[in-house]
Amino acid sequence: MTHPKNRPGLVFGTGLGGMTQKPDTRIRIRVIDTHASTAYAWQNRGACRGTDAELFFGPDGERIREKEARENRARAICASCPVLAACREHALSAPEKFGIWAGMDEQELEAERHERKRAAKVAA
Ligand code: SF4
Repeated sequence: MTHPKNRPGLVFGTGLGGMTQKPDTRIRIRVIDTHASTAYAWQNRGACRGTDAELFFGPDGERIREKEARENRARAICASCPVLAACREHALSAPEKFGIWAGMDEQELEAERHERKRAAKVAA
């Protein structure tokens, strides 16, 4: 399980597995160097590095319009991210259950996981 504070470019810990709880969005996003020589080294190059975690996860009780506006701002950051592909694969495989990852929200990530499983069954 990934600690809620872990995410690409927003890394605090070991980056293992998916989050099972929404992160504490009061935490400022930052990157530590412990991933430099690991499979998670790509996280250090995330465009979200240095941004506020709340932009990617949102506060509790967020209204729909506020959520959409916030997520659009997060997606705009992801759109220019040099490690978007690696982030997407991580978010799909972890699996990450909360927040915007690689420009995708929770529902989009889940739909992609479902589609990949379906495609794998067809190919088998
Ligand atoms: S794709 Fe988005 S969430 Fe993933 S590392 Fe880049 S900016 Fe961060």
